[in-house]
Amino acid sequence: MQKKKKPNRITCPCCGQEKGERNLSRARKGLPEINGLLVCAGQHQEAADPALVLLAGFDRWACDDCLNSGRAIAGEPRRQRQENIMAHEPEYLAFWDKSYRSCLDCGSAFVFSKEEQLFYYQQLGKSRLARAVRCLDCRRARRETFRPARELGEMLEDGALRSEEFRQRVVDNYRLLGREDKARYFEKRRPDET
Ligand SMILES: [Zn+2]
Ligand SMILES: [Zn+2]
Repeated sequence: MQKKKKPNRITCPCCGQEKGERNLSRARKGLPEINGLLVCAGQHQEAADPALVLLAGFDRWACDDCLNSGRAIAGEPRRQRQENIMAHEPEYLAFWDKSYRSCLDCGSAFVFSKEEQLFYYQQLGKSRLARAVRCLDCRRARRETFRPARELGEMLEDGALRSEEFRQRVVDNYRLLGREDKARYFEKRRPDET
């Protein structure tokens, strides 16, 4: 007599290996946090285990082996920004290094590391619809390019020149932006009395 084979193994999107029950406990635990998945992943599938159906239709989780070995790190959906319902994109139950073919600025292949992703989605509060399109060096360079303008905006908000050091910083930032006229203007001004 032949035993009927149950579909109780699914492929981990992180390591690409087929995993069974015993390797899915952490991913399974994360599922109750997730709303909306039931709708997109559960269509017309009859399975003894709805959790397996859910995970099979979803690619942002990792098996216990990946999480325990550090190949993947666990995500906290509650700390990820919730877009409006029309733009809903699945939560990250896990992060692992992702390779991309080319950076928008320098064109080289780059890795968006799991640590960067955690920071990006859970600290910076970036939308789950977004992903890095530049390598780390280009992202840093870009931040540096925009820094003087951003800093000036914050520094001059209330119009006060708090100290000599503060005034010099304003001058330096205008020079970095190529605004010699403004740099000269602030060079002549004296810091406000306090
Ligand atoms: Zn895995
Ligand atoms: Zn780059």
